[in-house]
Amino acid sequence: MVVIRKKLVLESLAAKITYGKINKKNYVVVHETDNERSGADADAHARLQMNGNSRQASWHWQVDDKEAVQSFEHNWACWAAGSDKGNKEGIQVETCVNNDGNYLKAVQNTAELVAKIMKDEGIPISNVVQHNHFSAKNCPSKMRAGKVSWSQFIAMVKTASGAVQQPNPITDNNKYRVLTGTYSTIQAAENVLDVLKQRFGWVAYIEPDGKLWRVKTGTFTGADAAKAGANKIKTAKLAQVTNIVAA
Ligand SMILES: [Zn+2]
Repeated sequence: MVVIRKKLVLESLAAKITYGKINKKNYVVVHETDNERSGADADAHARLQMNGNSRQASWHWQVDDKEAVQSFEHNWACWAAGSDKGNKEGIQVETCVNNDGNYLKAVQNTAELVAKIMKDEGIPISNVVQHNHFSAKNCPSKMRAGKVSWSQFIAMVKTASGAVQQPNPITDNNKYRVLTGTYSTIQAAENVLDVLKQRFGWVAYIEPDGKLWRVKTGTFTGADAAKAGANKIKTAKLAQVTNIVAA
């Protein structure tokens, strides 16, 4: 297992280069530093963050061929992924690409660290993603160029986590939407829409029904997922009536 060390950025500084301690920790986001200079290893990047990175950027971990160094606890929402969702839901891991390091070993260490983070935070392998998943940036660039392909990397993570591949449990691939009952004012429908979008993180719409209004969700895959969605709406007392329809 890769050697792990903490070199945490002081809270007073961390508050200035993150969104604060609001990270939902739903994803592990894999990056590369793109800094090939000799000596640009994990410790150098950790020191850079600790001393106040001149760029408006921050990330939780940097990994080289020797060790993984942590700069932020996972609850901080760092600035690295290039999108709100990526920054507020991701644990950011930078693989070092310094010339004087062994890139393959650094990738192996990254895979081991990612496996540990998945276990510690309960994150599924399907939510281990590239920086590019959240923005157009070509990152991690060497992996994306195939030096170690992404599928090879994911296989390394699986091996490191001892994960047994489960058969895909989704047998119903049909798409469904959940409709609420009607609301007499658009304001009432908008209040519900806000909760679905902001709190649940869903796609949702308002649609007219005669002089009344209802809210319609984006699509769920499988009837079970749609039922769970409908239950969530009812449990939150957003609607007394819900209907599941084919999308
Ligand atoms: Zn990146």
